[in-house]
Amino acid sequence: MTTTNTHGRALVLGASMAGLLTARVLSKHFDRVTIVERDPVNDRPEARKGQPQTRHLHGLLASGLDIMTHYYPDLPDALAAGGALVTDMTEHMRWYTYGGYRQRFSMGRRAALMSRPFLEHLIRQRTLALPNVTLVDNCAVQALTTTDDRRRVTGVRVERRNGEIGEQVWEADLVVDCTGRGSRSPQWLEAMGYAAPAESEVKVGVGYATRLYRRDPADPRSQD
Ligand SMILES: Cc1cc2nc3c(=O)[nH]c(=O)nc-3n(C[C@H](O)[C@H](O)[C@H](O)COP(=O)(O)OP(=O)(O)OC[C@H]3O[C@@H](n4cnc5c(N)ncnc54)[C@H](O)[C@@H]3O)c2cc1C
Repeated sequence: MTTTNTHGRALVLGASMAGLLTARVLSKHFDRVTIVERDPVNDRPEARKGQPQTRHLHGLLASGLDIMTHYYPDLPDALAAGGALVTDMTEHMRWYTYGGYRQRFSMGRRAALMSRPFLEHLIRQRTLALPNVTLVDNCAVQALTTTDDRRRVTGVRVERRNGEIGEQVWEADLVVDCTGRGSRSPQWLEAMGYAAPAESEVKVGVGYATRLYRRDPADPRSQD
């Protein structure tokens, strides 16, 4: 969107990285932006079920850091202050893979290493500090609502999971689905009589495991 006209209410489904960044962008264009998240979300850097790699090591590559810094200028400082490594990763990271250490070189660009919950916490804090953005957690989106002729999405049907009763319908001028790879948008669109969007899939075939170690200060490599 290139105009600065504001519209009514935008609903963003999912309060993970895409949802929080989308809300930040939409906050410039809508009077109200409401983020709807199925998980309970606390004001702490803690793991939660809907975070895909929540307890794994997390790397934020240089372009991602640049884009996030554009929207949240104090992000690199806040990351570093909280213990993240914000540096030229190819120069300062020791990367052991396929039986050997990777060559180290200066890339001339900063990236960041930290836990995923910490990164998301900083982005969430800054997004929710915007006066027209709110987050409703414990709230699962069940379906889109539409006009009778099903030509326009009018909002969503949600299930509150925090003790409030049952299902509610929330209206919106724009709905953005940021519910990740488990998104039900294809089924919702088919139920409205539209073809599901074409999907392409790239299989990476890589397993992933993370283990935390305490470094021995006497080990000379701990200075690297
Ligand atoms: C093992 C692994 C390691 C990874 N490592 C990295 C890495 O090091 N660096 C990196 O940049 N990326 C990494 N990724 C990729 C990264 O996790 C994803 O690109 C990113 O999480 C996608 O963000 P998203 O907001 O689109 O979706 P998601 O993070 O999947 O978030 C979707 C959100 O929607 C919520 N939701 C789902 N359904 C509903 C519903 N019906 N109603 C309401 N809310 C709902 C979920 O709870 C969740 O909060 C890794 C992924 C995996 C699996």
